[in-house]
Formats: sequence, structure tokens, C-alpha cells
Amino acid sequence: MDQENDRRFVPAGKHRLPPLPYPYDALEPVISADTLRFHHDHHHKAYVDGLNKAETALVAARRENNLANVKCLENELAFNGSGHILHSIYWTIMAPEDCGGEPGPAVAKNICKYFGSLGAFCNQFVTAAARVEGSGWGILVWNPAWGRLEILAAEKHQNLTQWGSIPILVLDVWEHAYYLDYQYDREKYIRQWLKLINWVEVENRLLIAMQGGLPLLLACEPE
Ligand code: MN
Repeated sequence: MDQENDRRFVPAGKHRLPPLPYPYDALEPVISADTLRFHHDHHHKAYVDGLNKAETALVAARRENNLANVKCLENELAFNGSGHILHSIYWTIMAPEDCGGEPGPAVAKNICKYFGSLGAFCNQFVTAAARVEGSGWGILVWNPAWGRLEILAAEKHQNLTQWGSIPILVLDVWEHAYYLDYQYDREKYIRQWLKLINWVEVENRLLIAMQGGLPLLLACEPE
């Protein structure tokens, strides 16, 4: 485990923009090549740059023992770090239309166990994402504390979470994700976007998430 963590270790200020796993036009017509290019090459890159900048400034602040700007830097860390993580997941859980398969066995089982049915999950996910106030995300998370899935509707990248939750399926509903293609119609974008879900990758993410995490003791009332 130590070796694995050593391999993953990213030094302060050394985050990199991950490449898209498909060409810019792979998600057309649901998401245009222009939207994908601007979104990945400019918006996501800005979060990576912002995160590196905040971490580098914190290294300097520690070295100089000057924490005058720490509140602002912590804000930048949370916003840009969360933006980097969510976008990195967003690219990988999409696939060209009709290539993403169907929900896998672990996903289907855990969705039905908690939400009742795939349809009930979809209704809540779509509606919650459509109604995010301002910019944000619809996120299906695995909550290791309670051993189950949940839907979160995050504002910006970092607000309105449950600590410890692991994002499994993430939907960007910032205007930069859809405005060129759908203008004001966020819900139309969301309904079209469902066709792009890479269920194979979502299944993989859930299986890995379910292996980790610290359960809370006395997490539920006795029957
Ligand atoms: Mn975005």
C-alpha cells in the first residue's frame, strides 16, 4: 500500500491536465467538438493551473512562515482541486453514443437497493442536476461510511458534499459544458447526455470504491 501511495504521490504544484480518452468530435452530436475542445483545453486546464498555483504559493508561505493569504489559498485549493478531480472523472465516464453499454451488475444492484429502480435513480439524478443553483454538478457517489450510493447536487465544484463520498458518475452542468450546443436548455443537454454514459467505466469505479473507505462505527440504528 505504501508503494502504491508512493507511486501516486503528486508533489505540490505538479498536477497535469490528463489527455482526453477520445478525439474532440467523438461525442458528437450530443457534445460538439468545439464544446469539448474549449471545455478540456481551456476550462479544465485553468483548474489544473489554479491548483498548481495555490499549492506552490502554500509551499512558499510555509517556507517564509507567512500565512497572511492562507484563507484565500485554501479557497483556491478546494475550488480548483475539486474542479480538476471532477473533470478528470467526467471525461472518462463518457463514451461515444451507444458505446457505453448498460449499467453493470454492481451498479444496477446498488442503484435498485437504495433508489428502488433505475428509473427512480435517473429521475432524481436528472432533476437534481437540472436544478443546481448556478454552476455545479450532478454526482452519483459511493458513501463508504454507510455502504451505499447517494446523489449529490454540488454547487461550483466543492460545495454541498458529504465528506468521504467517492464520485462514481459525474455530470457537469456549468454553462460552459452545454451552452454552445443547447443554450439555456440545461435539461435537454442532460437528457441527451445520458446517452454518453460509459457504464463499463462507472461499474469499474464503483467496484474499486466499494473495496476502500472507512465504515463509521454504529452507523445505523439497531433493527
Ligand atoms: Mn466544466
